[in-house]
Amino acid sequence: MSGVTLDHVIKRYGATQVIHGVDLDIQDGEFCVFVGPSGCGKSTLLRMVAGLEETTEGRITIGTRDVTRLDPSDRGVAMVFQTYALYPHMTVQENMGFGLKMTGHPKSEITRKVAEASRILKLDDYLTRKPAALSGGQRQRVAIGRAIVRGPEVFLFDEPLSNLDAELRVEMRVEIARLHKEIGATMIYVTHDQVEAMTLADKIVVLRAGRIEQVGAPMDLYRDPDNRFVAGFIGSPAMNFVSGTVQGDTISSAGLGAPVAKTIAAQDGQNVLIGLRPEHLAITAGGAHRVDLTESLGGVSYAYITCPSGEKIVVEERGDHRSSEGDMVNLQIDPDHLFLFDAQTEQRLR
Ligand code: ADP
Repeated sequence: MSGVTLDHVIKRYGATQVIHGVDLDIQDGEFCVFVGPSGCGKSTLLRMVAGLEETTEGRITIGTRDVTRLDPSDRGVAMVFQTYALYPHMTVQENMGFGLKMTGHPKSEITRKVAEASRILKLDDYLTRKPAALSGGQRQRVAIGRAIVRGPEVFLFDEPLSNLDAELRVEMRVEIARLHKEIGATMIYVTHDQVEAMTLADKIVVLRAGRIEQVGAPMDLYRDPDNRFVAGFIGSPAMNFVSGTVQGDTISSAGLGAPVAKTIAAQDGQNVLIGLRPEHLAITAGGAHRVDLTESLGGVSYAYITCPSGEKIVVEERGDHRSSEGDMVNLQIDPDHLFLFDAQTEQRLR
């Protein structure tokens, strides 16, 4: 059993509180991703689990052990950092085995564990090289290998792919997913990249300003966000928001033109935000929406549109007939994929 539980965890730096009472259950073997914009407290929370930051209040449990006041080395965790933190004068093999050597493990055991990690991470051809002679992706694999060798109950990843170029990032993302499948350990992974969160996580924890906004499986957050923040953060390109006002059985919106059906219990005159994902909108020719710009990625294009209200939205287009810059178009809205939020509280209206 090596799940992780956070029980009303608080972090203060002097008088500044940066984590405001986080409660979270991470199951044994789960891949949990902390995601949120820069400064929301993801790294602080991860470092508190690692024991690299003191927990001001609350309790952290790993398996059945209260680790809140334990040293990092006694917690059964291994951390992988963005900046690999390899020893430059040691070979790949020595870097991976160093932790075990320092804790007095027999040489035969170290050799066996390094060989196993090397096999999993396909590092066999590089074992005698030093970090300077490795690519960024290979260095990050060595850093992950060093964590595997320690046989932790919980792996902690702090933005491990941020220093890699786009192509390598995708490659390493797949490798980390494969690694999780192969070793099945509990993993906590910090990123600001919602694509990494969506593709890797069993469970995503969306953080904002030191608080959890929502916890859920990736597709649950995508399909059923609790508030505007989560709706706008999960999904790429981001969800569009246009203002609307409840009028009788419909919601009128200068941005959309045609009113949409009122599917929620809301009072006449209530101001709402209508959330529409780019992939759930379509375009037909001739209308009051202007296409300012199009971006073609090949299989898919994005049309950047200005509404009659001046609000900006993005529409995803596929197929052969795609709009061009300067086109005046109509928006086709899919009423089954429309989200409503209170304009003041930004909470979802269901
Ligand atoms: P993230 O990882 O989400 O980018 P961090 O966890 O690094 O965010 O930081 C969360 C907040 O805590 C930020 O507002 C940051 O400025 C603040 N913070 C981090 N470290 C310290 C520190 N040593 N002293 C004061 N504030 C800090």
